[in-house]
Amino acid sequence: MELNSNSPSGPIETRWDRHRFNLKLVNPANKRKYTIIVVGSGLAGGSAAASLAELGYNVDCFCFQDSPRRAHSIAAQGGINAAKNYHNDGDSVYRLFYDTVKGGDFRARESNVYRLAGISLNIIDQCVGQGVPFAREYSGYLDNRSFGGAQVSRTFYSRGQTGQQLLLGAYQALERQIGMGAVKMFPRTEMLDLIVVDGRARGIVTRDLITGKIESHFADAVVLGTGGYSNVYYLTTNAKGCNATAIWRAHKRGALFANPCFTQIHPTCIPVSGEYQSKLTLMSESLRNDGRVWVPATKRDKRAPSQIPEAERDYYLERKYPSFGNLVPRDVASRNAKAVCDEGLGVGETGLAVYLDFRDAIQRLGASVIKERYGNLFDMYNRITGEDPYKEPMRIYPAIHYVMGGLWVDYNLMSNVPGLYVIGEANFSDHGANRLGASALMQGLADGYFVLPNTIGDYLASNKFDKVDASHAAVREAESNVHAVTRKLLDAKGKRSVDSYHRELGKIMWDYCGMARTADGLKHALTLIPPLREQYWSDVKVLGSGEELNQSLEKAGRVADFFELAELICRDALDRNESCGGHFREEYQTPEGEAARDDEHYAYAAAWGFQGVGQPPLLHKEPLTFEYVHPSQRSYK
Ligand SMILES: Cc1cc2nc3c(=O)[nH]c(=O)nc-3n(C[C@H](O)[C@H](O)[C@H](O)COP(=O)(O)OP(=O)(O)OC[C@H]3O[C@@H](n4cnc5c(N)ncnc54)[C@H](O)[C@@H]3O)c2cc1C
Repeated sequence: MELNSNSPSGPIETRWDRHRFNLKLVNPANKRKYTIIVVGSGLAGGSAAASLAELGYNVDCFCFQDSPRRAHSIAAQGGINAAKNYHNDGDSVYRLFYDTVKGGDFRARESNVYRLAGISLNIIDQCVGQGVPFAREYSGYLDNRSFGGAQVSRTFYSRGQTGQQLLLGAYQALERQIGMGAVKMFPRTEMLDLIVVDGRARGIVTRDLITGKIESHFADAVVLGTGGYSNVYYLTTNAKGCNATAIWRAHKRGALFANPCFTQIHPTCIPVSGEYQSKLTLMSESLRNDGRVWVPATKRDKRAPSQIPEAERDYYLERKYPSFGNLVPRDVASRNAKAVCDEGLGVGETGLAVYLDFRDAIQRLGASVIKERYGNLFDMYNRITGEDPYKEPMRIYPAIHYVMGGLWVDYNLMSNVPGLYVIGEANFSDHGANRLGASALMQGLADGYFVLPNTIGDYLASNKFDKVDASHAAVREAESNVHAVTRKLLDAKGKRSVDSYHRELGKIMWDYCGMARTADGLKHALTLIPPLREQYWSDVKVLGSGEELNQSLEKAGRVADFFELAELICRDALDRNESCGGHFREEYQTPEGEAARDDEHYAYAAAWGFQGVGQPPLLHKEPLTFEYVHPSQRSYK
């Protein structure tokens, strides 16, 4: 299959404008004749649903939570990037574009990234217009702080609750449209299959999570803004409900899955403390603006941090990367934390932690300033660990946090299944092999507020849509597929809980496809996952019935999909014989231990086609070309 990215050519600065001009428009009076399904009401889905309804389309919007306000986006802490250059510190759209292409280790599409950097300016205006309370300086200007992989301050924030405030903005816009009858909201409703009619996405099959009712919904186009799949690893910083079901089931209906092995490991999380744990907590990257990362200079030094004199500390990021210091990108910071712990320099009971120390910042700025900047994060740390980060350094360790992989989309954000659009973390687009901090919110809102509302009209205006209803063979087939999967899970009546299988799968993924990967390890993982998956289907214990609220059944379906996805992630990681960004294959590293890319053989997006459960997937390649930011060894020294 030839993958057409529909990426415009010509000067990069004007590509999006020229592309938009060439897109067909839907006459305002005709928009109300179209119905669009938006699955997801986080920052991507919520902003898209509100914007599409504002344009005049009928929108049906779905989420599995009881309110759009509870989407995982609400957890985002540190901020959102935009190249406003309010600090006059040398930022520009071009610099944000450059930093993002380089930060992603040259595995993203240049056209998309430039568009994203340009739209970043509009996002801030839009959100300020909605009343999002971004932090301000005394003068009244919006304040900025720095995030990893950049030497400018371009991150807009609302204390450590930026996602919550942005989501409230999108939610208000969505509620307005719900109130006006333009958006019909379906909370507590989970998409379990995609309906494809004559090769085009025409609807979804859902389960009402309260009553268990399985139903079909029809539309002229379907948009998935269903978030990321990090939870395949079980222990992650994501909300417990985040899952891959919507995109995985769309994948099984023909949508290509791109770069599944590009997972992001965040360097600053509260370390794992025991077997009983089911969730990890992020300490925002923003803390690295003022916190200094260090370990004792000698191995297994058990002294309290305050007892270790300055000369006996190793501020290893500042030492190795003097230009970027503690603000190196996430992949670099995570790998270095692992390296010092592997050397025996780690701290805490397990030795799997490094210090993030605010002593100097508190002395310089005073505790009240630090409290104002990060108060809620410090409180969160204190509540979880029982330690006071104003008095002693935080202990942190990398953890799975975000996925750059997702469904393949073209420049219009349409998948290879016509009429199926994918936005936000659910698609594979703009971050390459490593996302820079504060760029996920930017991408989700760029997709939802600005890109999709422009591009979807072209598809609607270019096609004719026959009516589809429940009697169509494709609909009946999709519905009976959902019934069959539900029945099979309930009928297994096995001995082990869904969670125990999920935990075991997550451990395999972390051990063999986590921060460091090898061909042998990945091959081994691929011998462990399929038998465990088969055992799951015959031995999983799901209590209750399908005709009621049944969270065990909900989880069981999601974990079944994680099993299949896990295999694809490992295959992709095994196939990519290079290191890039978050994908670190130990066999491919520079003499200094940095990721060694192989541009000659791997400068492409790997888009996998589903061939059946347990069958090797089919690889399609979208070649990546770099006309502006020329591939080089990334350096943050
Ligand atoms: C702790 C934490 C902090 C973060 N901080 C930052 C930050 O400071 N800056 C930044 O840029 N990024 C941050 N990120 C990343 C960022 O929050 C996410 O990438 C982003 O919010 C994802 O938004 P989304 O709209 O794509 O998905 P989500 O917010 O996950 O929304 C998914 C939506 O899809 C719905 N859904 C999913 N599956 C189905 C289904 N099958 N049927 C029906 N509905 C479904 C859900 O109900 C939900 O409404 C952080 C991530 C974490 C984990």
